[in-house]
Amino acid sequence: PEKIHDIVIIGGGPIGIACGLEAEKKNLDYLILEKGCLVNSLYHYPTNMTFFSTSEKLELDNIPFISTNPKPKKAEALEYYRRITTSNQLNINLFEKVDSVEKQENDLIKISTVKADYYARNVIIATGFYDIPNYLDIPGENLPKVYHYYNDPHYYATRKTVVVGASNSAVDAALEIYRKGGEVTMIVRKPEIGRRVKYWVRPDIDNRINEGSIKAHFSAKLLEIRKNEVVIETPEGKQTMENDFVLLMTGYRPNFAFLEKTGIKLSEDGKKIPQYNPQTMETNMENIYLAGVICGGVDTHKWFIENSRIHAKMIMEHITTKS
Ligand code: FAD
Repeated sequence: PEKIHDIVIIGGGPIGIACGLEAEKKNLDYLILEKGCLVNSLYHYPTNMTFFSTSEKLELDNIPFISTNPKPKKAEALEYYRRITTSNQLNINLFEKVDSVEKQENDLIKISTVKADYYARNVIIATGFYDIPNYLDIPGENLPKVYHYYNDPHYYATRKTVVVGASNSAVDAALEIYRKGGEVTMIVRKPEIGRRVKYWVRPDIDNRINEGSIKAHFSAKLLEIRKNEVVIETPEGKQTMENDFVLLMTGYRPNFAFLEKTGIKLSEDGKKIPQYNPQTMETNMENIYLAGVICGGVDTHKWFIENSRIHAKMIMEHITTKS
C-alpha cells in the first residue's frame, strides 16, 4: 500500500475523538473514520436531552467543557465536541462507514469503507451501541407509526402515543410528550420505573403516573401493533387500545456481527462481552483495540464517557511501548 497509518480509529464519537487527541499527542499517524456526522450518536439523541453527567465528566483531555448548567444539554455537547475536533484539526473522515477490518499476511490491517481501502498497523474500534435498536419482534413493529428513536415532542401533540420501556429514554419521552398535549400510555415490563432513571426526573414521572396524567401499565407487555390500535397484555388480561404512535424505547445494542466478522470473540454467557485485555484494551486479535461503550456487550450501561475516556490513554500507551 502507498500509505500506512499507525492507527485507524473507527467511530467519531466522544471516545473516538479522545483516541484521536491522544494519538496526536504521541505524534502517531492516525485517521478517524465516522459513518455519519461528527459525534453521530449524540446528534441523534432527543433534541432537548439533558446529560446525566455533569459537564466536567464529559470532558476529553482536560479541555474545559463550560456550561451554565451543572448537567449540559445535547446542543452544548455537540458544540463542545465539535470545537475540540476543529480547533485541534483532528484527522477525521465523516460519512464514511467502515464495512470490514481484515488482517493481512504482512501484519498490516486492511480497513475497507464505502469509499476506499486503508491500511494500518493498529485499529481501534470505538463504534458505540446506538445504531441497532433492541427489536421486540412483534407483529406490526415495522409499521410507519412505530419508532425506535425519539426526537422531539411536538410531533406527538394531541395524539395517542404508547411508550414502551421505563428507562431514561422512555421516561424523558413520556414526560415531554405529555407536556405538549399528547396522550401517553407507558407499557413497562417490570413492576416499577427503572432504577437508573435520573434522580431529579424520578419524582416527576412518579407523580404524573400517580395522578393519572400519564397512564402506565406495569408488569405488562406489548403484544401487537396495528394501524389504529395496539394489543397489550397486563396482569388484568389482554386489552386493545386506540393508538396513533408507538415509541419503542427498549434500548440499543453494539454491532456484534461486525465484531465477530473482525475475529473478536464474544462471551458465551448471553452478555456478549468482547474479549479484550483490560490493561491494554487490546482484543484477542493482535493490534486491534476496543474503546468506549462498545466494551460492555449487551450491558450498554456499564461504560459511559466518564469511565471510558481513559481507554484512549491506555491504548496509546500500549501502542507506543510495544516492540
Ligand atoms: P458513540 O458516541 O456511540 O460513538 C460511536 C460512533 O461510531 C458513532 O458516531 C457511530 O456513528 C460510529 N460508527 C458506528 N459504526 C461505524 C462504522 N461501521 N463505521 C464508521 N463509524 C461507525 N453517557 C455519558 O457519559 N453521560 C450521559 O449523560 C449519557 N447520556 C446518554 C443519553 C442517551 C440517550 C444515550 C443513548 C446514551 C447516553 N450516554 C451517556 C452513553 C453515551 O452514548 C456514551 O457515553 C457515549 O456516546 C459513548 O461514546 P462512544 O464514543 O463510545 O460511542
